[in-house]
Order: sequence, then C-alpha cells, then structure tokens
Amino acid sequence: MFDVIIVGLGCAGYTAAIYSARYKLKTLLVGLDEGGLGNTAAEVGNWPGEIEIRGPDLMEKFKKHAVSFEEVTHKQARVDKIVKEKDVFTVTFQSGETVQGKTIILATGSNKRHLGVPGEDRLSGKGVTYCATCDAFFYRNKTVAVIGGGDSAVEGAAIAAQVAKKVYLIHRRGEFRAEPYWVDRVKAKDNISFVLNTNVVEILGDPKVSGIKLDKPFEGSDTLAVDGVFIEIGANPATALAIALGCEVDAKGYLKVNGAQQSTVAGVFGAGDVTNASNYFAQFATAAGEGSTAANSAFNYLSTVPVQGGSMSGGF
Ligand code: NAP
Repeated sequence: MFDVIIVGLGCAGYTAAIYSARYKLKTLLVGLDEGGLGNTAAEVGNWPGEIEIRGPDLMEKFKKHAVSFEEVTHKQARVDKIVKEKDVFTVTFQSGETVQGKTIILATGSNKRHLGVPGEDRLSGKGVTYCATCDAFFYRNKTVAVIGGGDSAVEGAAIAAQVAKKVYLIHRRGEFRAEPYWVDRVKAKDNISFVLNTNVVEILGDPKVSGIKLDKPFEGSDTLAVDGVFIEIGANPATALAIALGCEVDAKGYLKVNGAQQSTVAGVFGAGDVTNASNYFAQFATAAGEGSTAANSAFNYLSTVPVQGGSMSGGF
C-alpha cells in the first residue's frame, strides 16, 4: 500500500514526489508522458535559478531529483482507472495490474486543443502537428504556419523562424496574449508575417500539407502555400480520471481544488495544469508550487485522518 500515488510525470508530479519523499511517504510516481508539457518548451527563461534552459533538460533534472529518493517508485504506465473504497484508492493500469494507495495526487496536465477544421485530422502527422517547438526542426528552409496567440504559438513561431524560410503567425485576434518577451522576439524576426484577425478554415494537401485556407484574404489571397501547420491554440485539462473518481470540475472544466490543492473528494489532491489553481496560470513555477502544496496536504491528511472510514471537510 502506497501512502501517495501521484499520477502525472510533469513538473507538478515530479515536485509533488520530491516533497512527498521528504515527508517519508511511500510514493508511487506514475504516468505515461515523461516530462509532460514541460518537455515541449524550447527555451525556459522564467524558472528561477536558470537564466535559460531547455524544457527537456529542466524536466530531466526534475525527474532525476524525484527518483533519487528511496521512498519514490517510478513507473511509466497508463492509468486507466482510480476507484475509492473505504478511504483506500485502487489504481488500475492499462495492463490490468492494480496498486493501492491512501491518497492520490492528480497531476495529469492537459491535452492540446484541436482546431476542428477540415483536413486537420486527415493531415495530422503529415504536416499538421501540435508542438511547434518539437517539430520546427523538420521544416528547415520550408514555409510553415503557426496558429494561436498565446505563449505556445508565439514562442513556437520564434523557434520555427530560426530554421524555416518563412513563418506565418496566424491569430484570430489583433493582440497576442503571450508574454511581451516572446512578442518582441517574433516582431524582431523579418521572416515572420503576422496574419491577424484571421481564422484558418481548412488545411489543404494530399498526401501531405500543401496549404491553408483563411476566412479572409491575406496579401490578396485566402490561400497560403505552406509545408507545415503548427496548431498551438492551448490545451484542455486532462480530467477524465478525476471525473470518473467523482471529483468536481469547475465551469471551465478544470479540476476544482481549494487552497490546499484538495479536490472535492477526500484524499484526492490536484496539482498543475489540470487544476483551477493559480488563476489558471500554467507555468513551471505555479505547477511546482501546486505540487509541493498537494504533497504537504497529503501528508497532513495522512497525519490527521484514519485510513479507514475517515473524511475531510471540503473547505471550498
Ligand atoms: P493559451 O494561453 O490558452 O492561448 C491559446 C491561444 O490560442 C489564444 O491566443 C487563443 O485566442 C487561441 N485560440 C484558442 N482557441 C482557438 C481556436 N479555436 N481558433 C483559433 N485560435 C484559438 O494557450 P498556450 O499558448 O498553449 O499556453 C497555455 C499555458 O501555458 C499558458 O498559461 C501559458 O502561459 C503557458 N506557457 C508558457 C510558456 C512559457 O512561459 N515559456 C510557453 C508555453 C506555454 P484568444 O487569444 O483569442 O483567446
């Protein structure tokens, strides 16, 4: 029986494991996607203590730290189901194997949003991708479109512009929500064209991407010839396990947690992009903060609540 089962191998999950281990809790750290979304950051310039570091390098450091404790068992596996019975949680992996724990920390992150336009699914993996910073390298001297106006899109356009011949940054509004740091970086690039107040209505090509259709003309044409389309329009919280477990989500669909990162189900805590905490500000720093608080709350819960039959007041 584990004291804590942490689901999710990203920034929040690794941090929760570090704290949980130092509380001497028997910890299972499990997930499928090692490094999580943090792995997709080409350059991280806002993790305190590192002026600049690649996302994968930062996540490797987190993992190394988390698994350095004898209290932590690390497992790469898909969690299919979590069931609570008499204050004991049974976690079932895709393989059918099960483990039991006294508390759960859900650090399941988010899933990239899709545009939902014709051609997108058909050309996924054939020029359509959901991580500009991961895939830009394959488009050396080519022309690509990056869609979105947040940090992921603007950072992605800046990184793509380092290798591609031409980048169209296409945003449905006239202003970016990305950090001014990244907006300044893209404005300084002369191979990026801004296609603003514009939506992509279709992705064209067969068998691979050859262009996109816009809802209004850009420089005289509503079709742009491109070799790749990077869709960076945000992500939806990965709450399926939480919902099946009976946890409430908020009106935006995020796992509802209180200031202690406690969900509406006793013994279940949440951390990182899946939750409604930190004002939805999905950053390495906030995910790490939420992960540490979740582990502290699991520790407090285990210290004060008997494992069988106990409950914890909501506090929402
Ligand atoms: P985001 O901040 O939610 O931005 C999504 C963007 O896509 C918005 O500009 C949005 O337009 C646009 N969009 C959404 N749905 C659309 C649709 N159906 N069609 C066209 N455009 C659509 O997502 P994100 O950029 O992936 O960032 C997610 C979180 O990760 C944020 O908290 C961000 O700060 C963080 N992040 C941080 C870094 C970093 O610090 N280096 C890097 C990447 C991500 P509107 O603006 O009109 O809503």
